[in-house]
Amino acid sequence: MKRGIYSYFLNQTIQQRFRFWIAVVIVVLGFSIIIPFYFTERHSRLTEVESQLQQIVALQSLYIEKWSQEKLDTIKRFANSDNAKRLQIAALIKEVEVYSRVHSEFDMFFFVDQEGYTLPGKDSNSKTYVGDRPYFEQAVKNKEHISGVMVNKVTGEPMITFSAPVHRESGEFLGAVVGTVSVDMLDTLMEQLSFGQTGEVFVLDTQGKVVTASRAQSKLEVNAMMTTDIVQRAKAKVASNESYIGFHGKKVYGQYKWSTGNRWIIIGEITEDEVFRNLHKISMTIIAITLIALILSFAAAIVITSRIERSIRYLIRGTKIIQSGNYDFQIDEDKIKLAPVELRQLCRTFNLMSSKLKDNIALLEHSALVDQLTQIHNRRYMMLEGGNRLQACIAAGQTCSVMMIDIDRFKKINDTYGHLIGDRVLHHVASQLKRHAAEYMIVARYGGEEFIILVPYHNVEECALQAENLRERIMEAPYADENIDIPITASIGVAEYSPIPEYGTNVLEDMVSRADHALYRAKSGGRNRVELDRSSVT
Ligand code: GH3
Ligand code: MG
Ligand code: MG
Repeated sequence: MKRGIYSYFLNQTIQQRFRFWIAVVIVVLGFSIIIPFYFTERHSRLTEVESQLQQIVALQSLYIEKWSQEKLDTIKRFANSDNAKRLQIAALIKEVEVYSRVHSEFDMFFFVDQEGYTLPGKDSNSKTYVGDRPYFEQAVKNKEHISGVMVNKVTGEPMITFSAPVHRESGEFLGAVVGTVSVDMLDTLMEQLSFGQTGEVFVLDTQGKVVTASRAQSKLEVNAMMTTDIVQRAKAKVASNESYIGFHGKKVYGQYKWSTGNRWIIIGEITEDEVFRNLHKISMTIIAITLIALILSFAAAIVITSRIERSIRYLIRGTKIIQSGNYDFQIDEDKIKLAPVELRQLCRTFNLMSSKLKDNIALLEHSALVDQLTQIHNRRYMMLEGGNRLQACIAAGQTCSVMMIDIDRFKKINDTYGHLIGDRVLHHVASQLKRHAAEYMIVARYGGEEFIILVPYHNVEECALQAENLRERIMEAPYADENIDIPITASIGVAEYSPIPEYGTNVLEDMVSRADHALYRAKSGGRNRVELDRSSVT
């Protein structure tokens, strides 16, 4: 497995490696920016929201305390008025009416006698028993009272009741003054308290019933029982900064506060969505920037590496072409103009190398096929090129002959004049052969003082005539320099191509062998003559 991954990476191209490392660098960079940013920013955002919510609920609790205290104070003032103390109810009602002309906060105002019956007044004409109501029970105990949210039996509207006991100067309990306030009154106040796009403030009574909400859209919400996490926290009086499912079913963060006297729970809430909206936007922007950087870098990697790869491809192709034997291959420098300078240099060096190689190979090939001493072709050339030429004759339905030429008594020349002169004689004979042989013949030094000439399209007799001519030319051109004059003769054996080889399997070698035998006969017959191999003549 490990090995597989290792060899996978080894086999990656320049471009793939570039892309891989660019991706690694950018992704690591992106993460190292976004992760610390996201978590620190999230933390500070939460702390910020927590304190913002705490401020709002504190402010709201002040408002509501002040608001309810004002209402209670008004009720207490009426309860302590002379009219109340003297049970002059009609006058009291009158007094309230005057007050209500300016202050419209109370919906209903009535007096309850010491038995617990309402006295007929402006808002109630009949005598109703309310002795079992909490506000009356509290009044009996000499306590003022603010109720939770109650539903007005007549109007169906939610309302809050404020009450205060009435006493004679002597302390005797006379009844209670009661005023009800519609929750509507609070709503107007609350509307100013919503914050952000989703921030909302709820006022709950001790049971958890919604008294008012800053964004209350319908009366259904008000007076509903709130059972969210924050209410449980408030009831248990625990502090927490965890999110929870809020009153509207969305994930929210919230803070609560009990108002003084534990009459109300004030809750401030804001959706998680809004809290983190900016954070998410910035995070998305960072991710988008990272992705754009990734795409741009990939594009840059492709452009840069394709220029590198292009010149490398040319170099690889060039080496392959040279390997196949085509030594003069040159990389077109126009095609790699945009490659990095090092690679252009490398390609230029490659071109210099290949042209030098071409020259050297040509030199090597020349020296491999040309005899150093005589400067005519050697035996190797004859066996290669002569073989091809012979095959061409056979393919054309033509014949072909060969002559083997051996200088007579050459050993004696060596012995008499020395090897150096012997060499010059060899060069001289070779030149004579080359000069007098026809263009279409192949002349080569076979070895020592022996030469071989391939004569295409000629049968043995025609070739013998040519041989005779050459023999005479050699004889007529003795070697001469300032001091010496060396007469030269040569013996020649001639043989023609035979489809059925007598010696071995190679038809050219067979011809050479038969010419050699004929040459032997020329030697033993007295030298300076031409002999024919007749085995191919039918
Ligand atoms: P024959 O008429 O029977 O051919 O007699 P020959 O002396 O020519 O034949 P032999 O084979 O006895 O001698 C050939 C000599 O050629 C022997 C060798 O020293 C000489 N020889 C061969 N190659 C060279 C060479 O490159 N340079 C010189 N100077 N002599 C060479
Ligand atoms: Mg010889
Ligand atoms: Mg000889």
